[in-house]
Amino acid sequence: MKINLATSAGFCFGVRRAINIAMETAKINKPVFMLGDIVHNEEVVGQIQKTGIKKICRLSAVKKEKILLIRAHGCSRGTLQKARKLGYSIIDATCPMVKEIHAIAKRLENDGFKVIVIGDKSHDEVKGIAGQLKTKAIVIDKPENIPLKKIKSIKKAGVVVQSTQNLDKTLEIFDILRKNIQEVEFHNTICKPTRAKQNEIKIMPLKNDVMIIIGSKTSANTKRIYEISKSLNNKSYWVNSSKEIKESWLSRAKSAGITAGASTPESTIREVVKKIKKQ
Ligand code: SF4
Repeated sequence: MKINLATSAGFCFGVRRAINIAMETAKINKPVFMLGDIVHNEEVVGQIQKTGIKKICRLSAVKKEKILLIRAHGCSRGTLQKARKLGYSIIDATCPMVKEIHAIAKRLENDGFKVIVIGDKSHDEVKGIAGQLKTKAIVIDKPENIPLKKIKSIKKAGVVVQSTQNLDKTLEIFDILRKNIQEVEFHNTICKPTRAKQNEIKIMPLKNDVMIIIGSKTSANTKRIYEISKSLNNKSYWVNSSKEIKESWLSRAKSAGITAGASTPESTIREVVKKIKKQ
């Protein structure tokens, strides 16, 4: 069987950078904490835990010196201020591309635009973007959830996008906003690695008999890649590891396309390729 591995499969630049920063920070002889998991992948989370970095759900007062490691998704200004006030030293692993979205959102607000974020309301990156602002941002996750009445009352809106959003869905939402708001400044802040993944996944399912998408079931960007793949090729399968691959999926296939979400480690991708080669 021919195996076609996507060139964009696996860790993006921001995740790789955040993991490296975490590994380096763990070498400092001080307790290190993180608000939530470093990335949405169980294997990577396990590796980080082994370094001694602890995951916490909320900040509490610090007696001895402690470090708070900010993840690639970033966080709100309020969280940073609270952490500093409570005595944490901050090491910031926010992806530079997320930082850029923060800067654009703040600039839009300062210039008098109502900020609209296209993204998933409950995702930490979106909370971090909205959390840069003095006023409440409007967050829109899908066209059917656009608050039209509210939108129509806005004269000037500035739009930014969660870095991992689906481009087609984003453009659909933007089109509705454009038709209902007098002045709209649109910033397509979907990051380069996400665009590369989405471009490949629009072609690979059409050129392969079977598609295998690797990533944790908690990973939103893997879910988006899987959804695009499934819409183009019904034989698209989402697995977290090589153990989940079923022989029957590949029995009559002549080619298998493989890709992986931005938080999937290379070791997992290698195992999947190895297992499919054996079929
Ligand atoms: S998906 Fe994009 S924005 Fe998010 S961490 Fe990766 S490179 Fe950065």
